Order: sequence, then structure tokens, then C-alpha cells
Amino acid sequence: MALNLTVDTERWREHLRSVAEEIPGIVPVAKGNGYGFTNRRLGDEAALLGVDTVAVGVPHEVHAIELSAFDGDIVVLQPWRPHDEAATALLTDSRAIITVSRAEDVQHISRIAPGTAVLVEVQTSMYRHGIPAEEIAQLDLGRLDVRGWTIHLPAAGSLDEARRLAAAVAEHPRGEAGVWLSHLGVEDYRTLAGELGMPTRMRVGTRLWLGDAGAFRATGTVLDVHKVAKGTPVGYHGAKTPADGYVVVVSGGTAHGVALAAPATPHSFKQRFIPLAEALGEVRGRVTSPFKIRGRKRPFAEPPHMHSSLLFVDGPGAPAAVGDELPVTVRMTTTHFDEVLFA
Ligand SMILES: *Cc1c(COP(=O)(O)O)cnc(C)c1O
Repeated sequence: MALNLTVDTERWREHLRSVAEEIPGIVPVAKGNGYGFTNRRLGDEAALLGVDTVAVGVPHEVHAIELSAFDGDIVVLQPWRPHDEAATALLTDSRAIITVSRAEDVQHISRIAPGTAVLVEVQTSMYRHGIPAEEIAQLDLGRLDVRGWTIHLPAAGSLDEARRLAAAVAEHPRGEAGVWLSHLGVEDYRTLAGELGMPTRMRVGTRLWLGDAGAFRATGTVLDVHKVAKGTPVGYHGAKTPADGYVVVVSGGTAHGVALAAPATPHSFKQRFIPLAEALGEVRGRVTSPFKIRGRKRPFAEPPHMHSSLLFVDGPGAPAAVGDELPVTVRMTTTHFDEVLFA
């Protein structure tokens, strides 16, 4: 009786293997909610793929990978900062590779933990973190164990920018450690890897784990079905049903991330940043839920609760039975499933 993710294991693994073959030097990224699968499970899959390195987002995510079957190196993508105790604790962890993105942090780590394995982040047109290209040549990397240089491009990363930054890296005496790219197209990555006389790696999350959307499906379980007449007040807020029909109670609510939508584009940011559940209060009964019954998405009867949602289905004849599994559309990076089932 839960919000479940069911994975077609064979099909999913087939896809993972094909992406890994397509991208030589792939570094699977396991972060956040593990793209819906959980980070520990992604660590297990990385072990099956036979890769030597996995990347996590933040220091707190290292532990889940340590619990998995994966026993190689773990890159922390978020750059180290002096105030970050969790990140500092990893400096002496033999499996961790720390990202550094400021000259002062390089000096600091060199002093407190010489020999730390690091990736040096280069600033890109994203302007998130990184050493500006023109400062690379003079960067003193002291006694750090430089494993590579990272180039994190914007969503539609350009080959020209990657080339230009890789050329700046090549100017540094320790440039031969190689470049680790993010968000470059596969073809562009292969082209660049062929051109550069240095090792190249590519960090991949979405394309790897979520690239074959037919390999997994999310479902909520029907917990209750109630026949109601038109105008019956239902739910916490007594929203009146718009017609004769049924209230269907299904597992999956705000605690799972159901009906919380992350913005798809900067343009839609403002509207969609407001949790949908809140906006729903104003238009009760008319907002389409992500749950499908008999092939159609049905409206919420009221805003979702923490673990379940009330749907309304009009017309005669019970639309669902207790125990039915309803397909639900979710955003995989914001959903916490109760169970991930490998079928
Ligand atoms: C999250 C992240 C990735 C993976 O991103 P996807 O879009 O999921 O492939 C790669 N590189 C960096 C630096 C990241 O933070």
C-alpha cells in the first residue's frame, strides 16, 4: 500500500550498459534522491557496470555509496569550502576525490591535508564555481594529488567552449591529468576525447539512469473508494464534489513529492516554484492529478495529504478497487518512493 517504483531490471540494465559503452570514461552520477532509485542502489548498479569512479553531489551522499556494492573512488561534485566540516572530514578518506574551485581553497587543503586527491574545477559560461580560464596557468597546486580538471557546461554544452577550456588546462604543468566533462553531447564528447592528448571522463546522471523511460514505472495503490452524491463535502476542507461519482483515495502525497513540480524552464520558474499543493487550494476539484484511472488523469478532490491523495471520478460504476495500482506521472528527481521494486 505504497507509492512504488517498479523497475524492469533486465531492460534497465541493458540501457545502462549501452550508455556506458557509448561513453568511454563514463562516471555515473548518484546524487539527491538517486534519480528516484536511491543512491545506494545506483552504487550497486555502478559496481555491475564495472566503472572505477562514481560521483555524488555533496559530502553527505558519500555514505550511501559506501553502503553499496561499489568499491571504487567517489568524487564529490560540490566544491570544498573551509567552513564545510563534512567535506573536510573527507580530505583524509582514501576513496574520496574532492573538487576544488578556488585558489585559496587549494592552498588551504595543501596545508592541512597534503596529498589529498582533487579535481580542479574550471569556470565555464555557467558562472557557478571554478577557476577562471585565464588564471589556470599560474595556479599553484602545491602538494595535491591532481586527478583531473572539471568542466561543467550549461545544459546545452558547446564543443567550442569545452575545447577552449581544455586548451587552457593543457597549458598547466599538471594539465596532463585530463579533463572531466559534464553536459557535453555524446558526439561532441567523443570528438573532443579523440582530439585531446589527455585522459577524458564524462559525468552522466539523467541520460544514464532515466534515459529509457519505459524501463520503470511509478504507481500508487488504491486505499479506499467511496461513492458520493454531487455536492458532498469531502476531505479536510470540505470541498464539494462537482457531480455524482466516487472519491478514490490513493497512496502518494506531498511527502513523496507528488504534485510538487520543479520548474522546467527559467521562464516557468515563478509559476511553478509555488508548490502545486498550495496553488491547489484555490482551484479545488478542478486540478488534474498525476494519477491515471482507466487511462485518464483524474482531478484531485482536494490538495494532496502527506501520504495519500483524494481523487474524484464522476459517473456511475466504481472506477477502481482497493488494491489497484494506478499509474502516476512523477518527476523522478523529486519523488521519494516507499519501495523500489526490481522485477
Ligand atoms: C548533477 C551533475 C551531473 C549530472 O547531471 P545530469 O544532468 O543528471 O546528467 C554532472 N556534472 C555535475 C557537475 C553535476 O552536478
